[in-house]
Amino acid sequence: MAIKPQPAWRRQLGAILIWGGTIFLIVNLFAPQVFGRPIPQVPYSLFIDQVEDGKVASVYVAQNEIRYQLKAEQDSETNQGGALGQVLRTTPIFDLELPKRLEAKGIEFAAAPPPRNSWFGTILSWVIPPLIFVGIWQFFLNRGGGGGGPAGALSFTKSKAKVYVQGETEKITFANVAGVEEAKAELEEIVEFLKFPQRYIAIGARIPKGVLLVGPPGTGKTLLAKAVAGEAGVPFFSISGSEFVELFVGAGAARVRDLFEQANKQAPCIIFIDELDAIGKSRASGPFMGGNDEREQTLNQLLTEMDGFSAAGSTVIVLAATNRPETLDSALLRPGRFDRQVLVDRPDLAGRLKILEIYANKVKLGPDVDLKEIATRTPGFAGADLANLVNEAALLAARNQRETVANADFREAIERVVAGLEKKSRVLSDKEKRIVAYHEVGHALVGAVMPGGGKVAKISIVPRGMAALGYTLQMPTEDRFLLSESEIRDQIATLLGGRSAEEIIFGSITTGAANDLQRATDLAERMVTTYGMSKILGPLAYEKGQQNAFLNDGMMNPRRAVSDGTAKEIDQEVKDIVEQGHANALAILNHNRELLETIAEKILETEVIEGDELQALLAEVKTPDNLQIPVAA
Ligand code: ADP
Repeated sequence: MAIKPQPAWRRQLGAILIWGGTIFLIVNLFAPQVFGRPIPQVPYSLFIDQVEDGKVASVYVAQNEIRYQLKAEQDSETNQGGALGQVLRTTPIFDLELPKRLEAKGIEFAAAPPPRNSWFGTILSWVIPPLIFVGIWQFFLNRGGGGGGPAGALSFTKSKAKVYVQGETEKITFANVAGVEEAKAELEEIVEFLKFPQRYIAIGARIPKGVLLVGPPGTGKTLLAKAVAGEAGVPFFSISGSEFVELFVGAGAARVRDLFEQANKQAPCIIFIDELDAIGKSRASGPFMGGNDEREQTLNQLLTEMDGFSAAGSTVIVLAATNRPETLDSALLRPGRFDRQVLVDRPDLAGRLKILEIYANKVKLGPDVDLKEIATRTPGFAGADLANLVNEAALLAARNQRETVANADFREAIERVVAGLEKKSRVLSDKEKRIVAYHEVGHALVGAVMPGGGKVAKISIVPRGMAALGYTLQMPTEDRFLLSESEIRDQIATLLGGRSAEEIIFGSITTGAANDLQRATDLAERMVTTYGMSKILGPLAYEKGQQNAFLNDGMMNPRRAVSDGTAKEIDQEVKDIVEQGHANALAILNHNRELLETIAEKILETEVIEGDELQALLAEVKTPDNLQIPVAA
């Protein structure tokens, strides 16, 4: 990748001025001393002696120096001061008698000799300091304004986007990215838009403007954006969200404007904004903090530009990355802005293997290296971690002065990287992995029988984020705004499916189900206190609306004032609902125990099961007859 150069004269101007000025000054101040004949310095006492002895012809008295010339008839043999008629200098002391002494000896004396180069020095003293200031000013401005355009006093409003124009040799394409196949498939479409915009415009379609890449750090979001640019052969502007917001209020908005201006000139092209959340945080968040005006202005400007810029028919597509999509302002996610969201998740086993292959190709591997084994041992590693892992292994081999990277190097590297990652991703022991597998399959099987929470679409035991060790993804089959009672009961049972599987298979339970229990209990409580779904307690809202909770108590107490008896009944009802869900989950899993084991063993090998394969497996689930409540229609 080549960074587009800035005009050389402008980048160098500051430096040239500073250096030119300094050298000029030094030469003019010191050169006369360096190149001229030096005037010998003598002690003041010697000067006085020479005056008293009548050897001095003339004296010039300056503030810091006295220069004098010896008489021509000086006897050079006895004279210590110098040759005939020589000019000498001494440093004066506070001596009020001096004029009198000189007068008494009839020596010609005068005040300071006219300073050498006086006019020149004066001019220098006036010109150099401003020059230095201008130089420093230029220097900083040039550092700030990187994006082309005239550098002037306002260049801090220029965007700092780096422009990459990829050459053929260093081109990044989809081949450089692995393990994120779905994301790649979705981005293929963007490449088409950039390559053949006319196709879409001709038919009257609106080319999407924004694509949000969502995923944990290091999973290859930046790399994907570069690959899109590389595949489409268009320039790539890269900037981080935090770079918009700086010292000057309003600079962020101006930078956004400038960025889009530049991009429009180069269209079709891609703008990549990393860390979008730095400017795109929800404006509603933090009610007690007050707004952040600068960030809001920047965000507003971004929205305006995104609404306006494609009007001219130019194809500029904004790709943005974030790992906290939930904090983004909803205005950003509206249609016409970042309406497409692409999940870039941590890779599964097959994905990790592919990524390892990409990077292993760049180092010399020994014969005993088994990439598959390495991939198996690194669940939860993102692409960046794997790239780092290969490099660490190569470094270890080189340090041990071996020619190729051995399996042992990889083992040690994994340990190092894991120790460094510790919190970021976890590497589970085999036992834990088994528990997670059964837990997730438990959710899936119960969810398959009681589909109130949606269709089970994916089971994964790749650790994800800080908390989840695995997950079961249920996709809603249609948009839902109302939930029926039985659907909520389904959801509760599905949430308890994980824990139930652990009970059945391992006869004990782990801490892994805490979050499930929390959610199940919350749902049950809301059924009773908010939705009036309890037969015993009737259609009453025992929960106060948010606002009322504030007004009435001054403190947050979400419960309406209820009698002790009612409180007890609520607790009992909530407990009963959760227990029922639990009983259903146990019944389903006991009934399908074989299937539970088959799928769990399978997922231990592949880490992820989804699509047709999963549906085929789940189709075998049998519904037991002893369910306590009817299954949702
Ligand atoms: P993000 O933007 O998601 O934080 P990056 O794209 O900056 O991550 O990834 C950092 C580096 O990690 C990349 O330059 C690349 O070397 C490597 N990398 C990450 N994900 C992948 C992947 N899926 N395939 C290949 N390399 C990857």
